[in-house]
Amino acid sequence: MNIHEYQAKALIKPYGVQVPDGVVAETVAEAEAAIEKLGGNAWAVKAQIHAGGRGRAGGVRLVRSPARLEAAARDLLGSRLVTGQTHAAGREVKRIYVERAVEYDRELYLAVLVDRSEGRIVLMGAPEGGEDIEERAAADPSAIRRLVLEPGNGLKQEAAEAFARELGLEGKQATAAVELMGALVRAFLDTDASLIEINPLAVGAEGLTALDVKMVLDDNALFRHPQLEALRDEDETDPSELEAQRFELNYVKLDGNIGVMVNGAGLALATIDLLKQRGGAPADFMDVRPGATREQVAHGFEMLFGNPEVKAVLVNVYGGGILRCDTVAEGLAAAYRATGTDVPVVVRAAGTNAEVAQKALSDQGIPVTFATDMADAASKAVAAAR
Ligand code: GDP
Ligand code: MN
Repeated sequence: MNIHEYQAKALIKPYGVQVPDGVVAETVAEAEAAIEKLGGNAWAVKAQIHAGGRGRAGGVRLVRSPARLEAAARDLLGSRLVTGQTHAAGREVKRIYVERAVEYDRELYLAVLVDRSEGRIVLMGAPEGGEDIEERAAADPSAIRRLVLEPGNGLKQEAAEAFARELGLEGKQATAAVELMGALVRAFLDTDASLIEINPLAVGAEGLTALDVKMVLDDNALFRHPQLEALRDEDETDPSELEAQRFELNYVKLDGNIGVMVNGAGLALATIDLLKQRGGAPADFMDVRPGATREQVAHGFEMLFGNPEVKAVLVNVYGGGILRCDTVAEGLAAAYRATGTDVPVVVRAAGTNAEVAQKALSDQGIPVTFATDMADAASKAVAAAR
């Protein structure tokens, strides 16, 4: 789960990470009240959306007067911000974060994340952070330094000191960086995060300040943190994904044109791989959970048929002890009739009640193409979508 910058800053501050004082505002009046409260004479006004690249897109404004603050707040609130990390339609800015601006000399990059290939928690850092870090790291991978943490050992003092030197820090700043790294690792472990990224980390007379924080929490561990679950911003989730969640469907929207309905995440991945090998592109990843009812399955199909991008639907189900093939077939038939769709449907059904399912679809006159196996199903779906 992604969370907003202001939420991430509030989460890591109690661990001892220095962040600028800030106030969230949903209206221009709240933004004006925020600078009264914060004091000072320069402020950063930052769009709170779940996407980076805001600086370059005009979503981060440095202002030096109440009039400029008001204009920036008016401009950003309610606008759609398109950044290099959003879709072309952008994201609506419902909140801004108003912070006291920080004076600083240098920008660093510092992150803690789960490195899947290492199977370890890794600290990543760069002596020069800032908005173009991705491009520079792509051009020169040595721009990013890494420190792999051994499970159970946490962050060793000496390793952290050496890492601070690699980031070009000395003396008091190096000491502060070591403390910061320890704080980040503690926050990371306590919250079951998968990423905490500070970019930029400002280095200046005020010490080390996290100017921007991106944080991702592990969905599978959220049950252990009900207080973190409350940070979820449903506005940032694709509406069709939210709708699917209500119907016991695991759904991820993708950008191809073949609607995929399967039962089981492994089967979904295998099916998507097969489609891609044949030059097809999945429009989604729709996984029916074992306890799903006919009505829930029907709702999933209605979502697929209702997606104008979907040019063919591929059903690949393996009936087991709980979800039977005929439940999927009945759901498909109901959705087909309810929507009056003419999208071609390819079905591969195996396992419990596979024959019952085929017969039910034929008897009800639902024009589906049956496939003998997964590979055949994928080929037929790719052909149908063309
Ligand atoms: P992002 O583009 O979405 O990653 O947004 P950031 O929060 O990183 O902001 C973009 C840039 O604005 C940063 O790289 C900084 O250079 C600058 N910036 C953000 N906050 C402040 C601040 O308080 N003071 C100053 N001087 N610059 C800031
Ligand atoms: Mn940033």
